Amino acid sequence: MTTIENTTNDTKEIKNFIEEIIDEHNLAGRFGGKVHTRFPPEPNGYLHIGHAKSICLNFGLAQKYGGVTNLRFDDTNPSTEDEEYVNSIMEDVRWLGFDWEDRLYYASDFFDQLYAYAVQLIEAGKAYVDDQTAEEISANRGTPTVPSTPSPYRNRTVAENLDLFSRMKDGEFEEGEKVLRAKIDLASPNMWLRDPVMYRIKKATHHQTGDKWCIYPMYDWAHGLCDSLEGITHSICTLEFEVHRPLYDWFIDQLGVHHPQQIEFARLNLTYTVMSKRKLLQLVTENIVSDWNDPRMPTISGLRRRGYTPESIRNFATRIGVAKRDNLIDVALLEFSLREHLNKTANRVMAVLNPLKVILTNYPEGQIEELIATNNPEDETAGSRLLPFGKELYIEQDDFMEDAPKKYFRLTPGGIVRLKYAYIIECEEIVKDTEGNIAEVWCKYFPESKSGADTSGLKPKGTIHWVSVAHAIDAEVRLYDRLFTVEEPDGDKDKDFKEFLNPNSLQILRRCKLEPSLRSAEAGDRFQFERLGYFCVDSEDSETDQLVFNRTVSLKDTWAKEKDK
Ligand code: ATP
Ligand code: MG
Repeated sequence: MTTIENTTNDTKEIKNFIEEIIDEHNLAGRFGGKVHTRFPPEPNGYLHIGHAKSICLNFGLAQKYGGVTNLRFDDTNPSTEDEEYVNSIMEDVRWLGFDWEDRLYYASDFFDQLYAYAVQLIEAGKAYVDDQTAEEISANRGTPTVPSTPSPYRNRTVAENLDLFSRMKDGEFEEGEKVLRAKIDLASPNMWLRDPVMYRIKKATHHQTGDKWCIYPMYDWAHGLCDSLEGITHSICTLEFEVHRPLYDWFIDQLGVHHPQQIEFARLNLTYTVMSKRKLLQLVTENIVSDWNDPRMPTISGLRRRGYTPESIRNFATRIGVAKRDNLIDVALLEFSLREHLNKTANRVMAVLNPLKVILTNYPEGQIEELIATNNPEDETAGSRLLPFGKELYIEQDDFMEDAPKKYFRLTPGGIVRLKYAYIIECEEIVKDTEGNIAEVWCKYFPESKSGADTSGLKPKGTIHWVSVAHAIDAEVRLYDRLFTVEEPDGDKDKDFKEFLNPNSLQILRRCKLEPSLRSAEAGDRFQFERLGYFCVDSEDSETDQLVFNRTVSLKDTWAKEKDK
């Protein structure tokens, strides 16, 4: 898994291999031309960008073929699942722009039916109650070339199995005492067919069914049958389930019920990211990030809080397409999709993150001008706004240098620069504090150099952004960087992925100054801070009198450059 792919900038429609399969089905009349897909998350964590790919694929295919998509919670393991996850998953799917309408299902909706199916298999002599412990079953499993050792309980009579299974359900036995297993083939080279466990005893309260059940179906028993019961036509899942397909087929064929077509595709892997829910949970419980929706998390809720748009994620999903082999996608492609969308939709504003005061010595005391600023040069309908300009301004500390190298085109002693939408200024004097730090820069402005009516004849090499001191509003700005320092944090089996955490993934700036139009910015609003990147109002910590912004993404990929610094 080492191919990094970020070459395609193309969102054009090309038929993928799943669509080709569907086309074949439609030609042959299988499923009567219907396409009915489902997105089947287990509610044991928050959804991540990999799930987003699966959601876009399942809902997208149905939309394309005039079909529908179910949302189904695969809730077969009450000990790791939670209602909090159920709710977050629904919120995330909706936010991505998809609608399951009235087709919300839980595997637990089908527990009675699954139980009845199990009884049917027992009656047919195709399932038995095994008293071996999990360790014994595992020890007797054999290897792909050595058959399993049969359980001493494998040949129980149908009557005995029916009795024991019913008593398992009634809670007569303790956890681990008994399981129900399918009776298939102990010599099969496919290990999943060697009498897999169908039910285990678990005395846990379930978030949907409460204490009704103390036996729970295994995922492999429940999953394919839920697809069948819901009338799914195309069960799309990730590659690791390819080897489970013969088992799902076996269950369905034994019962003679509706048979969906399972199709496997490669899961999404992203550079600088871990995607396993277990690892993401670890980041949360060990307080390495603030929560599941920490803006550094690859979760959908984290991306949302960071400022990602649903459109950018859907476009990313289209761009990466579906593959049949595992690959690794460059996270820069996700960021590209985001920039592309924000460039068209986010208004430009002025924000100074590390302020340095500039005093215009020849600007009349008390005079304020309202300058016209374009909201979005990429979108004529976005209009313009008035930007107050006065004698005292903030500029970025970075935009002034006392001893500048030749190629530095911003403000230097004796040099000139243009203030965006305003005037050209020239630095005349530097004021330092007692520690020798630059406290203020005194400049003169050229009244005849006003933007749009410049008759000065001056040709400054740089243009910088600024905010009027008298009108500035304060804000906190959080700069995020990648959470990991290597492309494949969990790529090395001998190392813990947490060894590769980036210690500088969050930098908080508390003295930022923003133009006054941002006073009315609301949680989730997105902007381009001129020259700095895209930022959004944090949805958790921002308040009207103390705005908090998250950096969504820089304007360009500065990652490589920053590393060189
Ligand atoms: P785990 O973290 O244990 O691997 P999971 O990611 O399989 O869990 P599920 O809730 O079972 O989590 O996933 C729901 C659906 O999302 C499944 O159909 C699964 O195939 C798909 N999915 C999960 N991860 C990815 C991924 N990285 N890329 C594409 N699809 C994914
Ligand atoms: Mg899973």
